[in-house]
Amino acid sequence: MKHCLVILSLLLAASYVKAQTTTQPLMKYQNKIIPKSIEKEALKALSFYPELKDTPIEFKFKKAIKKSTMQAQPTWASFFRSKEDRGYIILISEKFHIEEEEFDIHNVDEDVLIGWLGHELGHVMDYRERTNLGMIFFGLKYLYSKSHIQEVERSADTYAVNYGMHEYILATKNFILNHASISPKYKKRIMKFYMSPEEIMELVNSNNNTEEEIEKVLN
Ligand SMILES: [Zn+2]
Repeated sequence: MKHCLVILSLLLAASYVKAQTTTQPLMKYQNKIIPKSIEKEALKALSFYPELKDTPIEFKFKKAIKKSTMQAQPTWASFFRSKEDRGYIILISEKFHIEEEEFDIHNVDEDVLIGWLGHELGHVMDYRERTNLGMIFFGLKYLYSKSHIQEVERSADTYAVNYGMHEYILATKNFILNHASISPKYKKRIMKFYMSPEEIMELVNSNNNTEEEIEKVLN
């Protein structure tokens, strides 16, 4: 009888652990505002950035955003606080265009959307390092300097990849780049401002090599 109880409790414990690992719930935050329709994808993207746990972030749909699908920026209300207390807003177009074709953000694949949100959170990671004055210059430069746009976009991609999101970031790139109707001109623009799939894989490989080297040294 005693043995049975021990075995039974072990079985229960094992199934509990299994349930914990297979249906790991996504964390709930006090300081994030997320529309219900993209909640799952936003929480998934956030789960890659533990540093953003205490950062206030609002994901918000907006009718039209100039030239882009999503945009991350500090909230005005928090702008004059210290950078540690800054909050951010991620604006999202529900409908967006890739050249002539119109898409609805709710109809793109889950992985593509997670990658997109992960890229925006990469911007937030980048902004967190900047002072308020730095953010003002940053905004001005973004308006006027193409090389600055390139630097900023590649930095957001790099954050996302370094935080383990490469599969999602690649899904987003491939969605844009492999689109049948896409013209070489548009493709060139994307390649110029963002990291290419090849560059992402190079970064993943070099991160893996560094990890292996660290492990070698530690063992
Ligand atoms: Zn961006």
